[in-house]
Amino acid sequence: MAASRSIIVSGAGIAGLTAALALSRRGYRVEVHERGKRIETAGAGIQLSPNALRVFDKLNVLDAVKRVAMSPDGVRIVSAHNGKPIRTVPLGASAIQRHGIGYLTIHRSELAQALVTACNDDPDIELQTGSTVSDAVEHANGISAMVTRGTSVRTHRGTMMVFADGIHSAGRKEAFALPGARHSGFEAWRGMISAEALPPGFDLENTQLVWGTGAHAVLYPVRKGRYLNAVICIETPDRSQTQPREGDAAELMHRLRGWHKPFRQLFELAREWPVWPLLEMPPKDTWHHGRMVMIGDAAHGMLPFAAQGAAMGIEDAEVLAAMVERHGASEKALDAWENLRRKRVLEVAALARRNGRIYHMRWPGSAARNLVLSLTSPAKLADRQAWIYDWKP
Ligand SMILES: Cc1cc2nc3c(=O)[nH]c(=O)nc-3n(C[C@H](O)[C@H](O)[C@H](O)COP(=O)(O)OP(=O)(O)OC[C@H]3O[C@@H](n4cnc5c(N)ncnc54)[C@H](O)[C@@H]3O)c2cc1C
Repeated sequence: MAASRSIIVSGAGIAGLTAALALSRRGYRVEVHERGKRIETAGAGIQLSPNALRVFDKLNVLDAVKRVAMSPDGVRIVSAHNGKPIRTVPLGASAIQRHGIGYLTIHRSELAQALVTACNDDPDIELQTGSTVSDAVEHANGISAMVTRGTSVRTHRGTMMVFADGIHSAGRKEAFALPGARHSGFEAWRGMISAEALPPGFDLENTQLVWGTGAHAVLYPVRKGRYLNAVICIETPDRSQTQPREGDAAELMHRLRGWHKPFRQLFELAREWPVWPLLEMPPKDTWHHGRMVMIGDAAHGMLPFAAQGAAMGIEDAEVLAAMVERHGASEKALDAWENLRRKRVLEVAALARRNGRIYHMRWPGSAARNLVLSLTSPAKLADRQAWIYDWKP
């Protein structure tokens, strides 16, 4: 296929793989280069909301995702201090009724597998692992990028360059000369607990959102209920750490010392606790110039407190392909894309920050928060997410 119909994607994360599928469906040939020797699936579980699932439906990967995903009945909000439920926001059948499509939780490796299989089945997508993109430049007829594979370094040409290279994006720094992500003052401890080890009667039907002081936890089943995925987000004064580190369970227990004992006993069941610094991209930067564009975390990495980071990358990918279909692989398409994306993505990122403040409130604010929440109907709480979940490709 001519270079004029060929698009290069740097990074095979959720955003890059979705972009490849969406662009190839519009008649483009897509080269996806992934630096890792295999597709990275670190980080355990992920929640997929209706807005993201609609894109997967359009790209014919929803059935494969559903086969391995779980569908929680709701989000049960619980106090970290006494374990008492505060309110449940309905999902499951209620999400299908409200939004026409469900709300799923899935292990990242299973999501990656579904996307990779769809890419490998598509003759117009070439997915290369162990393949690092650098030095992308624009010229009169398109773009060229250096691709390093082992000892070989080759120039690849295309009509458009998509950087989906994540929160530590090299494209952002090299091709856009923009500053990288900054530490948010939060870190996420991520553990997996075997369902067999859970105490009798443990609620695996709902996602649990546990609100503590300066920390919260999100618990939900993955791998068809065989594991509980636990993410504990904690405020930290140390903003120097920008890469994941191995966490120490004793340190975690110390930091959650005010938490209800059954939660602490639950967390002791995880074998390891990798700790991820939570980074955010500066909100003001532009996400494209010429025929080069950043999508997903590379453009707008955000706090995970609205469970929307990947969903925004999935939406980015679909809208990008739609604009390329309408305007050709051109700067005009990227202008149109950014106009459609910017406001929504920044509002979702702001919501995630606001959620952090609400989830981590100190007393007496937390008591007022819990009272207001317990007086709000579950249906009203579900309505608050509609502006995010009702988005359609
Ligand atoms: C604790 C936590 C919980 C979360 N929970 C949710 C959730 O429930 N729902 C949700 O929607 N989001 C969630 N997120 C956010 C979500 O994980 C991210 O937004 C999403 O994974 C970003 O995808 P991406 O494809 O943009 O980047 P990445 O997944 O980081 O992928 C980038 C890829 O690019 C590759 N790469 C980098 N440089 C190069 C190069 N030079 N050449 C080639 N390849 C390169 C990398 O190896 C990587 O594979 C969560 C995040 C965290 C931290």
